Amino acid sequence: MATLEFLGAAGEVTGSCYLVRVAGRQLLVDCGMIQGRAVDEARNRAPFPFDPAEIDAVILSHAHLDHSGRLPLLVKRGFKGPIYAHEATRDLCRIMLQDAAYINEKETEWENKKRRRKGLTLHEPLYGSADALRAVQQFRPLPFGSRKELFPEITLQLQDAGHILGSSIVELWLREGTLERKVVFSGDLGHLDAPVMRNPTRVAEADLVVMESTYGDRIHRSWEETWQEMAEILAIATERGGNVLIPSFAVGRTQDLLYSFAHHFREWGMRNWSIFLDSPLAIEATEVYSRHPDLYDAQARKLFSGGRKPFSPPNLHISRSAEQSMAINRIHSGAIIIAGSGMCDGGRIKHHFKHNIWRRECHVVIVGFQAAGTLGRRLVDGARHIRLWGETVKVAAQIHTLGGFSAHADHDGLLGWYDSFSGRPALVLTHGEENARQQLAVSLRQSMGIEAMLPERGQTLNLDTLSMSRTQGS
Ligand code: ZN
Repeated sequence: MATLEFLGAAGEVTGSCYLVRVAGRQLLVDCGMIQGRAVDEARNRAPFPFDPAEIDAVILSHAHLDHSGRLPLLVKRGFKGPIYAHEATRDLCRIMLQDAAYINEKETEWENKKRRRKGLTLHEPLYGSADALRAVQQFRPLPFGSRKELFPEITLQLQDAGHILGSSIVELWLREGTLERKVVFSGDLGHLDAPVMRNPTRVAEADLVVMESTYGDRIHRSWEETWQEMAEILAIATERGGNVLIPSFAVGRTQDLLYSFAHHFREWGMRNWSIFLDSPLAIEATEVYSRHPDLYDAQARKLFSGGRKPFSPPNLHISRSAEQSMAINRIHSGAIIIAGSGMCDGGRIKHHFKHNIWRRECHVVIVGFQAAGTLGRRLVDGARHIRLWGETVKVAAQIHTLGGFSAHADHDGLLGWYDSFSGRPALVLTHGEENARQQLAVSLRQSMGIEAMLPERGQTLNLDTLSMSRTQGS
């Protein structure tokens, strides 16, 4: 019996992982890291609910760690097969998985120092850079729109999902005996008309669609309004004479920002500013973006072919080393500083907070999702003081939240993408907090009369009957 098992991102956003079993083959779609509270992250260490050595192949939708982050662990625990993904996904994974391994090794070392003093047994890092390197060597790049027979029973095609560079919609044709099924995984779907990325590819045919629902309960602010807001913030900041700090994720959001600054250079008065990209990971990711102009939308391609560099506005300063980063501290006015981490819990942005956030003339612009419990969320919620390395620091800078910068489709984008399929195929909603996917399910029922399935982690779908059952044996 052919089945699809939901091993992650079912009723939550992170840890994407699906197991397809067909004609004796076992295939994983994504193998992501679980991110969030410590109790959730502890699940990353648990044994996989399958034998990694028996997985025939992995298909990776895109490079974000909540989709790719456990691939080195899978390799460490015995997976030797190919990992199919777009070439840009491989290039981004090469830097992101190395970075994840490095952070993991550092954190474990720090943790073990404390454990040693307490006389506790020492922890092993989840995986190391050697595992990350081996995982990257197992990648087999596949262009968009080209069908590949992985096995006689399984054919694969990737299509542009428009979320980040290389992000893919996964189309699978599965055969077992007389059964033939086409299953389409949306991956993370892009935000319509977002900078640089093309819109998500519309797919017409499927027997079963597995669709993300991250913003299933939300309508994004329009791009025009978002650009207007950014222009206003920069105008006020120019007048007041402070710095502008932008906490940003290294892959996707940073490139959107750089592109917007280059594109709106004149109308936003960018000549008045020095832009600092203060994140080695974001610098490397931007280099990968620069190498793939074939994947940009028409507007970005035009800018690129006109001889301009879409991610290098003329006043951009690249800051790789710790010394270069610390030199920015001496600037009191006229700097736009883009640094990680995106939710302000670590990285260089905290150092810039220490030097700027207590000054009335400065601005913090929040351009990404801030999870509950993070420093970024406390700022969004209006904290008047924050703690930085044990010190209490006053928040006097103006905090702005630009909600329109999302890299995910909103409620209407998701409904529209599903609506392109002919004949209303069976639908499963994943990759969303419970509230978001419930609301999307209500909309789908009301506007299209479709009853979406909302699996929990560990549930299995029978690909013959296209109905959900409990985990096998229960
Ligand atoms: Zn993503």
